[in-house]
Amino acid sequence: MKCTICKHGETKLGVTTITLEKGNSTIVFKEVPAQICDNCGEKYIDKATTKDLLNKAREIVKNGVEVDIRKYEKVA
Ligand SMILES: [Zn+2]
Repeated sequence: MKCTICKHGETKLGVTTITLEKGNSTIVFKEVPAQICDNCGEKYIDKATTKDLLNKAREIVKNGVEVDIRKYEKVA
């Protein structure tokens, strides 16, 4: 798809690292699938993946973990 930020680049499927901060917790997800602009580098993560990330983050925060770095694994 065409990038909506720079309006020049095309996005390509790739993986990225997402950092979420909630309260005292920092959660880093590696290898999150995303559409990435080949021009400006803007990342587009689909709604289902975003929701999944937030759910996972909520679980981690609930367990009182301050820093968590993990590889993202999509649930089927
Ligand atoms: Zn762009």
